[in-house]
Amino acid sequence: MKIISDIQELRDHLRGQNRASFVPTMGNLHEGHLSLMRLARQHGDPVVASIFVNRLQFGPNEDFESYPRTMQDDIEKLEREGVYILFAPTERELYPQPQEYRVDPPHQLGDILEGEFRPGFFKGVCTVVLKLFSCVQPKVAIFGKKDYQQLMILRQMAKQFALPVDIIPGETIRAEDGLALSSRNSFLSVQERDEAPELQKALREVREKILQLNVYSTNTLSEIEKIAVAQLTGRGWQPDYIAIRQQSDLAPPSNESLQSGEPLVILTAAKLGKTRLIDNLEV
Ligand code: AMP
Repeated sequence: MKIISDIQELRDHLRGQNRASFVPTMGNLHEGHLSLMRLARQHGDPVVASIFVNRLQFGPNEDFESYPRTMQDDIEKLEREGVYILFAPTERELYPQPQEYRVDPPHQLGDILEGEFRPGFFKGVCTVVLKLFSCVQPKVAIFGKKDYQQLMILRQMAKQFALPVDIIPGETIRAEDGLALSSRNSFLSVQERDEAPELQKALREVREKILQLNVYSTNTLSEIEKIAVAQLTGRGWQPDYIAIRQQSDLAPPSNESLQSGEPLVILTAAKLGKTRLIDNLEV
C-alpha cells in the first residue's frame, strides 16, 4: 500500500485511473470501516482510503483533540484489506490556507437532527468530502448507513453539483450485542459499554411499536418517540433525539404519507456519560 500525504503525489499515482473506489474515514479503523473497503473493492479499482480528522466538522466543545488517532494500527488493517493507496494528508496539506469556501447543505437537511445538535457539522463534512473528491477523483465513493443523514446529504451534494461520483451505501456493522461499531465506543467505560446496546434496543422497540400500529398518525408516532426518550433518560442517558422520519428526505412523515406506506427510519443520538453515540434503524 502506498501512503501518500501530498495532493500532487496522489494525483500522479492515480493518473489514468478512471475507476477508483474511495472510502473516506477519520481513522481509528474498525470492522465497520473495513467492510466499506471490501464493498469498495466490488465497485471499482483501485481502492483508495483516506484518513483525515477534519477539524471543520467539529464544534468548539467537541472531541477534535481527543479523537482517537491510531495511524500505525490503521495502516496494518488497510494493508490486510488490499487497499492500494492510503491518502493521509496533514492539515497543512489539505487546508494550506483557511478554508473560506465551504459547501453549505440546505437548511431542511443540514440543520435538522445531527445538524441541530452539531451546528456546522454537515457544512464541515460536505466541504472536506468535496475537497477529498477533488483530490482523489474517484468513480465511486462508499459511505456507511451508520451515519444515515450524512449519507443522504452527501448523495444530494453529489447530485446537485453533478459530481461524477456514484455514492454507495454500506450497511452498519455491529458488535455481537447490537452496539454499532464506532471510533467513539473506545471512550466508554466498562459500565457504559455494558449499557450502550440499549440504544439499539430502544430503536428496535420503537420499530416494533410502529409495526404493531393499526392506525398510523403523526400523534401516535410522536408519543412513541417521547416514551423512548423517557425510557433512555430513566436509564441514565441524555438523549438528543429519537426521531421517526421518512427515509426519502428525513422529514417528519405526514398523516397522508403514513397512510400511503412511506418507508420510515428511526434515528437517534444520545449521550452516555461524556460519550455521544448515534444509531438508526430502517422500518
Ligand atoms: P468515520 O471514520 O467515523 O468518519 O467513518 C468513516 C466511514 O465509515 C463513514 O462513511 C461511516 O458512516 C462509516 N462507518 C462508521 N461506523 C460504521 C459501522 N459501524 N458500520 C459501517 N460503516 C461505518
